Amino acid sequence: MSTVILKLAPLIPRFVPSEVQANDARECLVRLAPDGYEHEVRIHGNPEFIDPGEYLSAAICPTCGSTISFDVTDDFEASTKWMSELCRQLAIAPAGSLRCSLPWCGHMVLITSLEFEPSAVFASCELRVVEPLIEDNQLAELVAAISRVFGVPMMHVWSSY
Ligand SMILES: [Zn+2]
Repeated sequence: MSTVILKLAPLIPRFVPSEVQANDARECLVRLAPDGYEHEVRIHGNPEFIDPGEYLSAAICPTCGSTISFDVTDDFEASTKWMSELCRQLAIAPAGSLRCSLPWCGHMVLITSLEFEPSAVFASCELRVVEPLIEDNQLAELVAAISRVFGVPMMHVWSSY
């Protein structure tokens, strides 16, 4: 059986919260998503792919809108290989200056400008809660609350592993 994890990440790839902000955000997470467990704030330092796990279905070129599929029946091998290479590059280089070439359309783009289906993002920190059983309106409230704590816009990513 797979595990569903709700992740919240800032829309500014290099944003890292202060210790006070991180503690406040974790308190918010516990208060507004009380049904979940393993509430945590992870600081990565450098932008990492805040991924949807098994939910990831496509990456989208921000220049031309063409996509590559992560579905097992389509370009699965090429897309997963490209994605793991991308994450390897991100781990060793500053992402702000990191461009990648998209094998399916040939465009060179900033890694942090890539779009995904469903939504995912590159960020230097993330909040996580396992199996939160949260309603959509509670989720909107949670995203807004964390955005206020961090002072930057946040988004959510549903992941499954
Ligand atoms: Zn393109």
